[in-house]
Amino acid sequence: MKFKRSIIWFRNDLRLRDNVTLLEGIARSEEIIPVYFLDPRHFEKTELGFPKTGKLRHKFLIESLLNLRANLRRKGADLIILNGKPEEILPEVATSIDAQAIFFSQEVTSEETSVEKALEQKSWAKGIATENYWQSTLYHIDDLPLPVGQLPEVFTQFRKNVEKLSSIRKEVDAPKSIPYAQIEIPNSLSDEEVKNGLGELLPLPNKVMKFDGGECRGMERLESYFWQKDLLKNYKETRNGLLGKDYSSKFSPWLALGCISPRTIYWEVKKYEKERKKNSSTYWLVFELIWRDYFRFICKKHGDKIFQVEGIKNQRDSWRRDRADFLRWCEGKTGVPFVDANMRELNTTGFMSNRGRQNVASFLVNDLNIDWTWGASYFESMLIDYDVCSNWGNWMYVGGVGNDPRENRYFNILRQAKNYDREGEFVRFWIDELASIEGFDIHKPHELPENFLRGKRIEIGKTYPEAMVEMEKWS
Ligand SMILES: Cc1cc2nc3c(=O)[nH]c(=O)nc-3n(C[C@H](O)[C@H](O)[C@H](O)COP(=O)(O)OP(=O)(O)OC[C@H]3O[C@@H](n4cnc5c(N)ncnc54)[C@H](O)[C@@H]3O)c2cc1C
Repeated sequence: MKFKRSIIWFRNDLRLRDNVTLLEGIARSEEIIPVYFLDPRHFEKTELGFPKTGKLRHKFLIESLLNLRANLRRKGADLIILNGKPEEILPEVATSIDAQAIFFSQEVTSEETSVEKALEQKSWAKGIATENYWQSTLYHIDDLPLPVGQLPEVFTQFRKNVEKLSSIRKEVDAPKSIPYAQIEIPNSLSDEEVKNGLGELLPLPNKVMKFDGGECRGMERLESYFWQKDLLKNYKETRNGLLGKDYSSKFSPWLALGCISPRTIYWEVKKYEKERKKNSSTYWLVFELIWRDYFRFICKKHGDKIFQVEGIKNQRDSWRRDRADFLRWCEGKTGVPFVDANMRELNTTGFMSNRGRQNVASFLVNDLNIDWTWGASYFESMLIDYDVCSNWGNWMYVGGVGNDPRENRYFNILRQAKNYDREGEFVRFWIDELASIEGFDIHKPHELPENFLRGKRIEIGKTYPEAMVEMEKWS
């Protein structure tokens, strides 16, 4: 039996290609209406005083929505964008337009699943069916070798298990055409209204990647990284870079909002391996996507523990909660150039390399002993690739409250700087006030003679902050 009319509620699946929810919605309904909610709870201020969704992440979301709307329009449909809480408004909308079903993609963590549950209950009470689908991971949840509750705690075991015993499903095509229900829905936002409230953004410096949201830009990045620039074959060697557009794939923001699916990337890797080259780099990109799956399934397994300071290890809470120190970290004013450069990149672009993330997170939790959940909350606000499971999962790891078999994840910041920014190029790019210092010296300005610094108009404590920690410990 087909539903006469259904709503497709888009969430973190803002694409047409490889979108099972959309395809099933179309296949099982005579006509459909795609809807997205700008949920006010996502834009509230956190207890720490910054917005849950910062400006740059908000911008990427808006671009992704408008691109989805344009792509739907090309197929004869549209995207209705509404302000409000989906679980309150959607059942009302469905009733008012005689929709018989609501289709949506499943999420994992509690804020999202509680919205799903409330939506389902209200919808069922009104006689409206709900249909949900799993689609955020590379390995489908039904294809795992074990039920989620029994999955191995340690990444390597998880990876070996899925690599050996599971396979990755084929992609599904984008719908050729969409049977759209031409119905006016009150309060639907226009493109201009969606853009309102974002305000001015500062222009980005050259050399940094300009991220624009949406499926089209995500697919262009894939095309460029794999085929035009032919960078995949060296991914393993370059992925720990810090500066520039191409050291790693930069797929994460599009993955986070579902503008592109991990399966699309996987099958493109397979094509590349056939047509160009198969090596440890092509394997490694898939390996990283398995990390993404791992955090998602671990979050599903452990529920709200991933947000709690004790983590899944139930570690005793002995963290400092010094707001002034935390603010210095957020602003990139710790006086440790490698940390500050990374934080300033995050604040300016909404992105930070994986190497940078490991270092600034380790500095916050291991050197400043500040509550790891504060760091995770700040990243949640700032990162354009914010993904609830990858973010909180990685932070738990760094905070030592996850299931990392390695006891100590301490990063010696100067040693890291020596390995990954030996000439100081990255720090020079982001910290103007130190830019005149040549070579590796830029990483330890406090050790340079005062006369020398004065000649360069640098005064530690005035033009650049005193270091918050004794940097000698890293020498
Ligand atoms: C403290 C901390 C917080 C993080 N927060 C996020 C987050 O909110 N969102 C997010 O997508 N990633 C997060 N990461 C993981 C990782 O840093 C980013 O995925 C990666 O830097 C994105 O750049 P890329 O797309 O060029 O990665 P690539 O190196 O090209 O990797 C390809 C893809 O693999 C996945 N991936 C790679 N490394 C990881 C990892 N460690 N964990 C999970 N998935 C991974 C990502 O989807 C990435 O796009 C975090 C890491 C740390 C240490």
